[in-house]
Amino acid sequence: MAKATGYIFLGPPGAGKGTQAQLLAEKLDIPHISTGEMLRDAIAQQTPLGQKAQVYMDKGELVPDELLLGLIEERLNQKDAQNGWILDGFPRNVHQAQFLDQWLNSIQQFSKAVINLAVPHDVLIKRLLARGRKDDSELTIRRRLEVYDEQTTPVIDYYAQKGLLHSVNGDQTLDKVTTSLLAMIQVP
Ligand code: AMP
Repeated sequence: MAKATGYIFLGPPGAGKGTQAQLLAEKLDIPHISTGEMLRDAIAQQTPLGQKAQVYMDKGELVPDELLLGLIEERLNQKDAQNGWILDGFPRNVHQAQFLDQWLNSIQQFSKAVINLAVPHDVLIKRLLARGRKDDSELTIRRRLEVYDEQTTPVIDYYAQKGLLHSVNGDQTLDKVTTSLLAMIQVP
């Protein structure tokens, strides 16, 4: 039987990852798994993990891997994720990418496709300021973009070297991004 596909969305905050990931998830009928959403839920429910994570999120820093890796592994093990999934916001650093690879190798059930949504920083800052989420103050936005450049850009190289990266220009209308994306990953 053909392996199911796990899609990984990369791209800076404000690139439109969440929107595109959601659209693809609906089209393919597989879950959209956003670590940011999972963490915001944990904060809303005031779980111990949520309380620890909030300190980092409010500053625009990454939540430490030891808090996050168990959370994602548990989510990927759930029943609805057995036929494929879309990861939005994970992996955010090379260690997380290696963790995911090891996990995928151990279960041998999925092939991966990585989609990178590229958008220039000045466009991102405008979009994020307009969005107005709690961690969207200008200072935090700038820090999130710095963290992205420092820690997540190496993940793009990591997948590019493996020949898995599909780059899409995210600085287009939402519909055009979707069209380019679907063509790139050959989903009709
Ligand atoms: P997002 O909704 O993807 O923009 O994530 C919001 C915030 O959640 C980020 O700024 C991080 O603080 C935290 N976060 C989400 N995903 C991760 C991850 N994979 N690793 C570490 N922190 C994360």
